[in-house]
Amino acid sequence: MIISMYPHASKAQVESVCARVQEFGYMPYPLIAEECVAIGVIGSGDLRACLEAVESMPGVEIAIQISAPYPFVSREFRPQSTRINVNGVAIGGSEFVVMAGPCAVESESQILETAEAVAANGARLLRGGAFKPRTSPYDFQGLAESGLKLLDKARRATGLAIVTEVLGECDVSLVADYADMLQVGARNMQNFTLLKALGRCGRPVLLKRGMGATLRELLLSAEYIVSHGNPYVVLCERGIRTFETATRNTCDIAAVPVLHELTHLPVILDPSHAAGKANVVPMLARAAVAVGTDGLLVEVHPCPERALSDGAQSLTIPAFRRMMQDLTPYIQLWKEQREIAVPVHA
Ligand code: PEP
Ligand code: MN
Repeated sequence: MIISMYPHASKAQVESVCARVQEFGYMPYPLIAEECVAIGVIGSGDLRACLEAVESMPGVEIAIQISAPYPFVSREFRPQSTRINVNGVAIGGSEFVVMAGPCAVESESQILETAEAVAANGARLLRGGAFKPRTSPYDFQGLAESGLKLLDKARRATGLAIVTEVLGECDVSLVADYADMLQVGARNMQNFTLLKALGRCGRPVLLKRGMGATLRELLLSAEYIVSHGNPYVVLCERGIRTFETATRNTCDIAAVPVLHELTHLPVILDPSHAAGKANVVPMLARAAVAVGTDGLLVEVHPCPERALSDGAQSLTIPAFRRMMQDLTPYIQLWKEQREIAVPVHA
């Protein structure tokens, strides 16, 4: 069940609703954000009686029974799509948002050159890892805080917002000091301690699907973040592991419309980690636009053959420019579709 409170509901009203819910044997999860005051109610008890009891309490707008196990992120709770504002860039609205940049921040010249190039070709966010989750402990692990400082420099030079990965709970506040959006990588999708810390941090989160995770598990991970207080979550399909080895992962293109049906959160697609091969990336990007994804996360490197990670799947700057040009008519169609689907006031 979700209890939607009036935006002006007082703290005392929220607290007394929570206390009442507990009397029926349920656990309340209050979410107090800019545009929404809601209480998620989880557990078992006499649901009908609890619903009736709280509906008439002061400050309560409506109490709704929700069948999905992820009430806060479910579209049953919020039928209209949510837009997430990342330093002035709205994801999930009428703009197709491209996030681009290298897999890892490697040097000042590398990140600045890439940032200028992706900004000039339509990207709105710069990506780049300063903390890298590498399979081998002997591989490049990222520049850590000095990488974050370079991202900040690139933001000031280009005006791009910054999205970068956070690997562990202990780094959340450090990364949040520099980043506009914190990325949770596929390998950390079920790092519940990290998800809870991100729930408390309040910065927008880009949550990538685990390589062996179902969509239900992805949504439950998003629910961790939202139920701990942070409603600003964008989901990212980045390919899953299957028996197929011709690509790095199998791009689950159906994930986009299925997630859009199940959740009000924005959904973007990462064709780079799905494909693992730069030449496949533009085609997957086109497919992503066609299925109505809210944006893309793309790896771009000025010299992929010298990249310290994920060079094979990174687009060169000219290839990124070509991809963006090629996508233009598709994005135009996407916008026309959006205008029909998204009411003007949303
Ligand atoms: C990345 O974005 O560079 C990355 C490590 O992605 P994923 O977590 O999807 O493998
Ligand atoms: Mn990468």
